[in-house]
Amino acid sequence: MNDYQPVIGLEIHVELKTFSKMFCQCPAFYFQKPPNTQVCPVCLGLPGALPVPNQKAIEWTILIGKALNCKINRFSKFDRKHYFYPDLPKGYQISQYDEPIAVDGRVEMISKDPTNHVSAKKIFRIRRVHLEEDTGKLIHAKNGTLVDFNRCGVPLVEIVTEPDFDNSDDVKAFLEELQVIIRYLGVSDADMEKGTMRMEPNISIKSQKSKVKSQNQVRLGKKLSNYKVEIKNINSFRFVKQAIDYEIKRQIEILKSGKIPTQETRGFNAEKQITYPQRTKEEAADYRYFPEPDIPSLVFTQEYIDSIKVPELPSQKIKRYIFDFGIRFEDAFILTRDKKVAEYFETIISNIKNQIAKLHIKNQNYKQIIANFIVNKKISTDLPVEEFINKVIEDLKPKEVDKGLLNEVIDKVLKNNPKPVKDYQKGKTNAIMFLVGQVMKEMKGKAEAKIVREEIERRINKE
Ligand SMILES: [Zn+2]
Repeated sequence: MNDYQPVIGLEIHVELKTFSKMFCQCPAFYFQKPPNTQVCPVCLGLPGALPVPNQKAIEWTILIGKALNCKINRFSKFDRKHYFYPDLPKGYQISQYDEPIAVDGRVEMISKDPTNHVSAKKIFRIRRVHLEEDTGKLIHAKNGTLVDFNRCGVPLVEIVTEPDFDNSDDVKAFLEELQVIIRYLGVSDADMEKGTMRMEPNISIKSQKSKVKSQNQVRLGKKLSNYKVEIKNINSFRFVKQAIDYEIKRQIEILKSGKIPTQETRGFNAEKQITYPQRTKEEAADYRYFPEPDIPSLVFTQEYIDSIKVPELPSQKIKRYIFDFGIRFEDAFILTRDKKVAEYFETIISNIKNQIAKLHIKNQNYKQIIANFIVNKKISTDLPVEEFINKVIEDLKPKEVDKGLLNEVIDKVLKNNPKPVKDYQKGKTNAIMFLVGQVMKEMKGKAEAKIVREEIERRINKE
């Protein structure tokens, strides 16, 4: 396997949930709306209609760029990308070509080290983030194909990574992180079932054999880096993983037979879990890009860029939960997947502080206990904060000890363990710890170790 190294890059499309479309005033929310009711001359591409860019969409694209640690270009512009497809009424899409809004970013995937500290295990680079418009939708009906233009012109952000991935697990983890980040920013639901987040991996295989200095291998090696297979619009993380795994196998088999995979775009059949050829991939020249003449260039001041603030992101929250709250990495990770759950958790922590102080609860670990309650779903996060706190406080209060039961247990433990008792009496005071441990175990933790120890000492010393 090591002779063949997968090289994987990603293109991710995210539909922004702005109020209006990218270049007109039609509502951008089209889900379940009757076909062709959210349209106007601009998004239908009628002659003479002029596009006006949506400022919110531009601001949110900058926000995404900043959240992905990109450099925001002070100068940016829109370009026309031409292709003929029935769901694209203008015959071109307004997109961005050589001056995208954001470039050169990175996403750090944090993970746990043995001491519960976090470190950035893997870094995946972001090549660019640009803004464009979505296309309409084709509906294949019995009596022919219909087209719905409601989605036409909805703001669409394209995020392109560098080909930094070499396996499908990393791709899946990255996409899940990206989805959480986008949702934290509040700019899109990034809902794959509704198609507001769509993914296109591109895959090729680098062959180590190309380093061998046989003439034939050098020639083969050179060609290998020149092809790329792109898989179109996949709408689930699981399918992305399956499609990539299938492609890696398929391409390696072709290479092993001495051939080179065709550069092409393929689809994914989820039922059969295979990819299939769709069309040979266009080169940039085929799109005949040129600057959009109806929209002036975008020039951002540094003050404007600085005024767009990125909220605390999940990876930052994880670090804070671990370092400030003493929460386990795994729980911090789960708590931060949904911003609402994270906020609920933080509200509980800040509201419970006073009550903890009042009750003289010694449990230093109460933040972890609250985390357990939420992570293990012992209590629903739909519960009002006050009620949640009452339940937690009940659990944190020192338990009333059943004296009769405790005495019985101590009797039993002393009787069953004559050796440690003797050892203690001979002066090996450490032997008592074993006895205390046995009692605590029998009491299932419902006793205080200090009291148990005093009681055992009292009995042994009497004997
Ligand atoms: Zn419109």
